[in-house]
Order: sequence, then C-alpha cells, then structure tokens
Amino acid sequence: MRVVRTISDLRDGLAGWRRAGESIGLVPTMGALHAGHMALVEAARSRCRRTVATIFVNPKQFAPGEDLSTYPRPEAADLDMFRSAGVDVAFVPTVDQMYPPQFTTVVQVGGLSEGLCGAHRAGHFDGVATVVTKLLMQTLPDTAYFGEKDYQQLLVIRRMVRDLDIPVVIKGVPIVREPDGLAMSSRNRYLSAEERRTAPHLARVLTAVAVGLEHAPDTVSRETGNARTELTRAGFNVEYLEVRSAENLTPVCDVVTEPSRVLAAVHLGRTRLIDNFPIASPAGT
Ligand code: AMP
Repeated sequence: MRVVRTISDLRDGLAGWRRAGESIGLVPTMGALHAGHMALVEAARSRCRRTVATIFVNPKQFAPGEDLSTYPRPEAADLDMFRSAGVDVAFVPTVDQMYPPQFTTVVQVGGLSEGLCGAHRAGHFDGVATVVTKLLMQTLPDTAYFGEKDYQQLLVIRRMVRDLDIPVVIKGVPIVREPDGLAMSSRNRYLSAEERRTAPHLARVLTAVAVGLEHAPDTVSRETGNARTELTRAGFNVEYLEVRSAENLTPVCDVVTEPSRVLAAVHLGRTRLIDNFPIASPAGT
C-alpha cells in the first residue's frame, strides 16, 4: 500500500492504473477506523480492481463547538488496518493541501441538506459536499462507497453527483453494528463504560419503531412519540427522531406509504450518536 499526502502524488499514483483501464473504487473516511469503514473497503475491493481510501478530518464539516480538536487521529493504526484490508493507495492529505490559502468555494446541496442533521449542525453538509467533490475530482474513481450510517449524507452525495454530472457511481453500504446492535462509530470511543451500556438502547428503540410501522403504517406519530419518550427516560437527549422517505427524505408524518427510514440523532453525555433503520413499504402500496 502506498501512502500519499499530496494531490499530485495521488494523481501520479493513479495515472498508470487509469491508462491500463483498471477500475478504481474510492472510500473516503475521517479515520479512527472500525469494521464499518472496513465494510466499505471490502465493497470497493469486491467490485473494483484498485481501491483508494482516504483519511481526512475535514474541518469544514464541524460546526463551531463540535469535536474537531478532539476527534481521534490514530493514523498509524488506521494505515495498518487499510494495509491489511488490501487498500492500494491511502490518501492522507493535510488541511493545507485540501484548503490552500484563499480557498473560497462551497458546494451546497439544497433541500436534502436542510432538515435532520443539517438543521442541527450549521454548515455540516456544505463541508461534506465540498470535501467529497474535491476527493472525487482528485481521484476520479469509477465508484465511491459511503455508509448508510450517515443516511442523509449518502443521499446528499447522490444528489450532488447527479446535479453536477460527476461521472461516478455512488454505492451505499449497510450499517455495521456491534453484537449488541450499537452502530459502529468513531465517536463510540468517547462513551464512558456506563454510557456504552446505555447506547445500544438507541438501536433497539429505532428497530421497535420500524417493526411497529411495518405492522401498523398509520401510527407514525404515536411510534415516534413513544420512542422519544423511551429514549429520554433511558438518559438520551433526543436531537431528532423522525420518519422520512428513504428515497428523498420527505417527512412521513402520518402514514407510511413508501419505503421509509426512521432516523435519529441523540446525545448521550457529551457524545452525539446517529442511527437509522429501514421501514419496508406496506404490502400493496
Ligand atoms: P467517517 O469516518 O465517520 O466520516 O465515515 C466514513 C464513511 O464510513 C462514511 O461513508 C460513513 O457512513 C461510513 N461508516 C461509518 N460508520 C459506519 C458503519 N457503522 N457502518 C457502515 N458504514 C459506516
């Protein structure tokens, strides 16, 4: 595995593969890797001849007061994980490489970026869209892989690629969970032992909403209301818990009539957790 830190080294490294007609898969990450990230690498490796994985803690996607300065950066361990997973090139740029002085461009995806996490993290999706556009233009992959863990992000990126005619296929990868159901996340390492015991409750409550709505599609407000109460009682501070269309995130307030998703963001102590589950479309609709 080659580790490259500049855009020109990245381009030089990929030019030969492209000339040889080898397909390239891209896996963007912020590091502090876990099995969820590795599922993206495996998906890339299974479909593409070459895999490029990136580690960049993107300052533009952190709102003021968030955990940019404390975000874990175990670079050597991350590179070992990429190496043993068969990544061909790890791109680990500096902030100056990505945002040289007088960088002023912002990629903004209207609509989809606005609710859910977008409503609570000022500028977050502008930062995500801008950095992902840059990574796509720098790497020019055939396919790029993103986790359903960040479901809104996945849809924002799909829309952005479509709107800007960026010639890349965006693949979503299902959420990888701990044995107790907690969605894997780099931020789980912030949890105290007691919070870690509470955390899987989030997945259990969201699963119950999804199952409940599959049986009784017209109980959205009751199910989501009960879920919020239950999470608050368990010690979570609920930022949002909503049912949305799986295709375009339109709010589903009363009745589930199309494939949907229950999505939530919560705080447990100082840790922000997000998770979501699919809700199958009721039969016959
Ligand atoms: P991050 O390093 O948190 O920015 O995540 C990098 C990529 O890994 C994003 O596309 C995430 O959606 C994805 N990802 C993070 N956690 C998981 C997980 N538990 N399962 C699947 N994908 C994940």
